[in-house]
Amino acid sequence: MTPNKPETPETPIQEKTNLLGMTLAELEAFFLQLGEKKFRAAQVMKWMHHRCAASFDEMTDLSKKLREKLQTCAEVRPPKVVLEDISSDGTRKWVLEVGDGSHVETVLIPAGGNRRTLCVSSQVGCSLDCSFCSTGKQGFQRNLTPAEIIGQVWVAQKSFGPRKDSGNRPVTNVVMMGMGEPLMNYQPVLSAMQIMLEDNGYGISKRRVTVSTSGLVPQLDKLGDEIDVSLAISLHAPNDELRNQLVPINKKYPIHELIAACQRYLKKCGDSREVTIEYTLMAGINDQQEHALELARILKPLPCKINLIPFNPFPHSGYERPSRNQVMRFQNWLHEQGYSAPIRTTRGDDIDAACGQLVGRVQDKTRRSARYAEERIPAALVDSNWPSAG
Ligand code: SAH
Ligand code: SF4
Repeated sequence: MTPNKPETPETPIQEKTNLLGMTLAELEAFFLQLGEKKFRAAQVMKWMHHRCAASFDEMTDLSKKLREKLQTCAEVRPPKVVLEDISSDGTRKWVLEVGDGSHVETVLIPAGGNRRTLCVSSQVGCSLDCSFCSTGKQGFQRNLTPAEIIGQVWVAQKSFGPRKDSGNRPVTNVVMMGMGEPLMNYQPVLSAMQIMLEDNGYGISKRRVTVSTSGLVPQLDKLGDEIDVSLAISLHAPNDELRNQLVPINKKYPIHELIAACQRYLKKCGDSREVTIEYTLMAGINDQQEHALELARILKPLPCKINLIPFNPFPHSGYERPSRNQVMRFQNWLHEQGYSAPIRTTRGDDIDAACGQLVGRVQDKTRRSARYAEERIPAALVDSNWPSAG
């Protein structure tokens, strides 16, 4: 009888470093640590983000030795696409697997000319529980990593084929308006946006990358110190009493503090810029003349434009979309106060692509979704001029 072989102690499998979510500075540090030259960082970044390479074998201007070395300790791992849907109007939607049976969505919306806006998710679910938001009602599972955030841009670009040297750009604009509150996942979102702006990354202009927030004041101040991107604020109400009900984070950072933070943010931007104010219209809640007048009044000190979003219904939300006439009336009241206030129109209906409230699937550890556990009926609401940055 042969004696049993002694069990060899299991050596822990070392996780490879995913280079996809690294900023230029982080990649440079990575190569220096490997004993390689710093310029390799820009080279590898271009392979990943310009040419959508996901394996080191494709990176033919790296020596074979370096490629082999990279293979042992690093990888380029984009999120796994479980569904790609292309609508008859050109809108494309991807469902990405992010572990634990959860999914997030990203949507690319053609917006006239050569412009294509990608709506990017920052978290799986959201903890802020805005009363009218289907993402909020799903609870919060986890933050996305930088690779999962920039990976959404990677996936969208890949679906068009790699960016050509001619400058062909499948994604011209990015809005952080998918699932989640970007400023609750500050550092990964910042890194991903740096890669969007970086020439060796996606080279998108700073005016065409927009972060949308429900209003986290300290993070907004920090953001203005660290990056220069366009800003959208989910306001939805012209006074604290109403906003406290719709956007609970308002109890912590009331409207006057938020507007002051926006003013500080604009001051830090390198050029003349406006904040986009998002205002979701809910029947009988915030769609009356008094609301329009109060809105115009409180926004006077802030250089801004207003986007009107008719409420996008989902079961048991407790809210209704106002009639078309009421939406037009609201727009008119704002016109009279000097605001053009475009209304977002429906796009990508046939694939349930609703930028601003992508649904995905969240494993709700907070059990919040149990209260709303019904099928959702998303509809897409995106104006062809929205967002009008750039
Ligand atoms: N958390 C961020 C970004 C994601 S939500 C934020 O709140 O800004 C993107 C936009 O869609 C926000 O303005 C949000 O208020 C809006 N939105 C959410 N649910 C909606 C619904 N049911 N109908 C219309 N707009 C909605
Ligand atoms: Fe979160 Fe934005 Fe939805 Fe509020 S509106 S719950 S902040 S995703």
